[in-house]
Amino acid sequence: MDFDYDLFVIGGGSGGVRAARVAASETGARVGLAEESRYGGTCVIRGCVPKKLMVFASGYASIEAEAGAYGWDVTLRDFHWDRFKAKLHAELDRLEGIYRRLLAGAGVETFDARATVKDAHTVVLSTGEEKTAKHILVAVGGRPTRPDLPNSELGIVSDDLFDLPELPKSILIIGGGYIASEFAGVMNGLGVKVTQFYRGAQILRGFDNEARTLVAEQMVEKGIDLQLGTNIAEMDKRNGGVWVKSTNGDEAVFDQVLFATGRRPNSDNLGLEALGVALSDGGAVNVTEYSQTAVPSIYAIGDVTDRVNLTPVAIREGMAFVETVFKANPTPVDHDLIPSAIFTQPEMGTVGLSEEAAADMEPIEVYATTFKPMQSSFAGQADRVLMKLVVSKATRKVLGCHIVAPSAGEMIQLAGIAVKMGATKEDFDRTVAVHPTMSEEIVTMKVPTRTT
Ligand code: NDP
Repeated sequence: MDFDYDLFVIGGGSGGVRAARVAASETGARVGLAEESRYGGTCVIRGCVPKKLMVFASGYASIEAEAGAYGWDVTLRDFHWDRFKAKLHAELDRLEGIYRRLLAGAGVETFDARATVKDAHTVVLSTGEEKTAKHILVAVGGRPTRPDLPNSELGIVSDDLFDLPELPKSILIIGGGYIASEFAGVMNGLGVKVTQFYRGAQILRGFDNEARTLVAEQMVEKGIDLQLGTNIAEMDKRNGGVWVKSTNGDEAVFDQVLFATGRRPNSDNLGLEALGVALSDGGAVNVTEYSQTAVPSIYAIGDVTDRVNLTPVAIREGMAFVETVFKANPTPVDHDLIPSAIFTQPEMGTVGLSEEAAADMEPIEVYATTFKPMQSSFAGQADRVLMKLVVSKATRKVLGCHIVAPSAGEMIQLAGIAVKMGATKEDFDRTVAVHPTMSEEIVTMKVPTRTT
């Protein structure tokens, strides 16, 4: 049968764009791609990129005190949200332009339209056009969710944060995950009074306990009112803001309430289930290790599959799909030992198993040190950092590395290579320290802090 395309990609985010571009430019495939919103997707338009720029913006708040201690006369005046926002959006426009040009340059035909799947080889565009393709790749991402609570529409979600008409004076953030904890730091740094409710015992569930506890302590130290074991019970419009009653009975009015209570795959109304593509209860498209759905011509990658919801993972999944389908080189996606960073303040970088997860599996040694880093300690600040290795007693392999420190994301990228290679504690030990740095501690911890 003759198709319009070899590949039709639904969704112009990190994963979809990479797969489309590589299939077209490296294999000569005829590729079409539809995007209903903006090219670049969540990461570039309403996620990682604008978030990180806001992390940078908020980081300048501490400069005055620190520079003063180093002998500088610095006076930081007001933060102008309008000025920053205009520059931020200009940058996002620039990046979107790059994504569009990359696709055009690779010969991918793009459609600014929503696409749904009609049958195993046909998509229907919101323009009314139908396109056929030998393969369809669903890369539609996910979206933030609000809890099932009356008046929850009075709260905003992370998508809204980059378009706020003005910075609120106070914000209540609901949730204890990545987005809640990162934006608590951002808003606090920008001078907003931040309250964070997390229903569990400690934020960043699933991460190493010692690391997340240090992050939480430092967040409180920096002025965030973090209330653990607390959730929102009721909300309403009152006194020009949002009135909230918490599960412990306290009441307060906030300028804004941010729900950072998780994300859901964008698999609704795509026509997938009717075709026999299986979805999980949470709406994730079920796929094999080759990202293939139950309909052999339809594949799915990225957040819509809810495997590991990170941009570089979606990109890997897109590349593995192209290898498998267009280069006759079946390539499963390796989801093991993925380093990642949480851009809280302080930042956390992590790869491998937490101490708790490792201890559940085998006898381990833990090497950990917390200390005041030179730069902020000189300035009399209370910041503390953590360097931690979780080591298998049997194989001596480093099973996990956890860093809480300024630029921990940068450090864990490099430590991640060693851990991925299967480095042992002794491999770390025979690496000479780089002095004076914070990360040198990772190769100088001689005695286990704990063993299990
Ligand atoms: P997460 O799943 O990380 O966190 C959701 C949080 O909301 C959890 O603390 C959860 O609590 C809480 N929650 C869920 N439902 C409710 C409810 N009904 N009432 C109160 N609290 C609730 O989601 P995020 O939205 O923070 O992030 C989504 C994904 O985006 C992440 O998993 C990650 O993959 C990605 N991401 C990655 C970043 C990075 O790499 N730096 C940055 C931002 C996002 P509980 O723990 O009790 O379930």
